[in-house]
Amino acid sequence: MPDVADALRTGLRDPLDGLDPEQRAAASAARGPVCVLAGAGTGKTRTITHRIAYLVRQGHVVPSQVLAVTFTARAAGELRTRLRRLGVEGAQARTFHAAALRQLRYFWPRVVGDAPWELLDRQKLRLVGHAATTLDLPTGTEVLRDLAAEIEWAKASLVGPEDYPAVAARLHRQVGQPAEKVARLYEAYERIKTDRRLLDFDDLLLHTTAALEDHRGVAEEFRDRYRCFVVDEYQDVTPAQQRLLDAWLGGRDDVTVVGDANQTIYSFGGASPRPLLDFTRRYPDATVVRLERDYRSTPQVVGLANRVIGAARGRPAGSRLALVGQRADGPEPSFAEHPDEASEAGAVAARARELIDAGTDPAEIAVLFRVNAQSETYEQALSDFGIPYVVRGGERFFAREEIRQAMSALRTAASRENGAEPERPLVPAVRGVLARVGLTAQPPPGGAARERWNGLHALVELAEELAATTDGAGLSRYVGELEQRAAAQHPPEVGGVTLASLHAAKGLEWDAVFLVGLAEGTLPIQHASDDDAIEEERRLFYVGVTRAREHLALSWSLSRTPGGRPHRGRSRFLHGLVPDEHPASRVRAERGAGRKPGCRVCGAPLSSTMDIKLGRCGRCPADVDHDLLTRLKEWRVERARELNVPPFVVFTDATLRAIAEQRPTDERALVAISGIGATKLDRFGAEVLAVVHSTGS
Ligand code: ATP
Ligand code: MG
Repeated sequence: MPDVADALRTGLRDPLDGLDPEQRAAASAARGPVCVLAGAGTGKTRTITHRIAYLVRQGHVVPSQVLAVTFTARAAGELRTRLRRLGVEGAQARTFHAAALRQLRYFWPRVVGDAPWELLDRQKLRLVGHAATTLDLPTGTEVLRDLAAEIEWAKASLVGPEDYPAVAARLHRQVGQPAEKVARLYEAYERIKTDRRLLDFDDLLLHTTAALEDHRGVAEEFRDRYRCFVVDEYQDVTPAQQRLLDAWLGGRDDVTVVGDANQTIYSFGGASPRPLLDFTRRYPDATVVRLERDYRSTPQVVGLANRVIGAARGRPAGSRLALVGQRADGPEPSFAEHPDEASEAGAVAARARELIDAGTDPAEIAVLFRVNAQSETYEQALSDFGIPYVVRGGERFFAREEIRQAMSALRTAASRENGAEPERPLVPAVRGVLARVGLTAQPPPGGAARERWNGLHALVELAEELAATTDGAGLSRYVGELEQRAAAQHPPEVGGVTLASLHAAKGLEWDAVFLVGLAEGTLPIQHASDDDAIEEERRLFYVGVTRAREHLALSWSLSRTPGGRPHRGRSRFLHGLVPDEHPASRVRAERGAGRKPGCRVCGAPLSSTMDIKLGRCGRCPADVDHDLLTRLKEWRVERARELNVPPFVVFTDATLRAIAEQRPTDERALVAISGIGATKLDRFGAEVLAVVHSTGS
């Protein structure tokens, strides 16, 4: 048993330790197709890292033959960290794009020649704009962004410009421009890009796939090198990524996929949970494991998560299993409504401060929102409370201006070293260089400056780490390590509260999570118009809820700016979740849900106030209960006399008529009648219901 001897020698644990029986079954399955289909926090990611360790320990593969892919840079970093903790060094864990980029760099000379290329990143919108002007298309930033996203969708879906109009028509794609024009723009964009020797992110996948599919030598070399593939978050695979995965596999079946169809949050970008759900059809002999125990979150958080996803509809929903919380009890999730965003952010920052003062590490706290534009208000509020923060988990760390400057200064300093013995120890040397690009001894107060400082300081911490682990490491070695991290999009840990979009939070977890901005128009987002889009927004909410280990706070605000008119209802997804919620506010949430009230007789949308009140259109027959109407009027006269007000102040004729037509039998049905709000319900609800009940139909 060489693995045990090995384990004893290295002091490493058995890779199957710390797994429950189902996780173990997946981790220790023989080489070949494995599929783990399970909800959030059930240990999917843990299972695959342990599986990799197990296969390595058993001698089935060597780490360098393993390629694990996931969808965000931070999630890939998390995979690497967990693998390292399990004693696996040298396995690749990357995003699809980062893996493709690396492979393409390597194989490019062989498939294309020496013609160099560059990655198109920030300039993309400008290039789309350039293509748009040649076609007489509008060039406003918003429009261009939509068009660029549509081109991305087409490429991720493996739809070329020539096929675009037909596919767009079939799938009812709506981008506000005629499909023919979009196709021509797409074509022009591709042409300009090729002329300038640029590749966009989608090209990385497409070109790498082509290199493997069309060049035998490339495919052989690649397949000889990589033998074992693992995909995390497989529910969000796009056709382009699937095709690349197929090219990697080249007909082999050594692939482990894990995912949760109820966390599909990129279908707007072409992703689909279908490959996950159809995995066993493709590999009939696959080992399939389902997990239900939630190890991440308290039963309180798990209970809320189950209710959120319990309301979902559609195919992904069909695969859901109720999660069973395994942790000890924790606090109930909290719900809070605020007049405006600034007060919401202030309350979040104040609560974060309390948690930190009570001992929570800021890095174990996250504020998650639907769109990045929401970030700024929270950055401000956190810095007002002196709380360090990182935006978007530092994913774009190496693209940040101050980090680029720092890298360039460090490179220059390293080249001066030029192979000679370092003049001074690494850490002071790095500090010296970074001081020239603005690193101060103490962190400055305030938002952006503080964030810059945190970034530069993280570089110092990396130097400290390297100095502690490698004797005599100099600047060149250090810069080499930084370059490697940059290429792998593996940013250093930057301490502080994470501010991230819900999309970027996938796969991650924190002790305390604030889900903010839960208002109609933000979540679900304004442009989510059809049922599919709404369901995707609901899944996004589910992803958010399931990031919390212990503390979960949900909040929304009624208006954007202080003193602004309250115009936003809280999110429809909160319906039925808020404890003690007043039936009146529940109905308002439903009304705000964009569903136009319809005629209860014929179903046609209602527009006039009177029709809405009666719940039917004027053309449809009235079915008023005259007996009830008479009794209601008698009751109203009495009540008005008691209160010394005119009868219409109690209820208008129209409202009484609506009650007499609809015969509400409980509070919910009663407040569904417009004109009956929380106050009226409190004052008269019980009496009206008593009148209805006592007047048998
Ligand atoms: P997501 O769907 O959000 O990606 P996941 O299914 O990948 O979630 P993990 O991140 O692997 O879940 O695990 C969630 C948490 O539970 C982690 O902190 C992990 O270490 C812990 N965990 C998983 N399985 C076990 C177990 N058997 N015993 C103890 N802790 C576990
Ligand atoms: Mg995971």
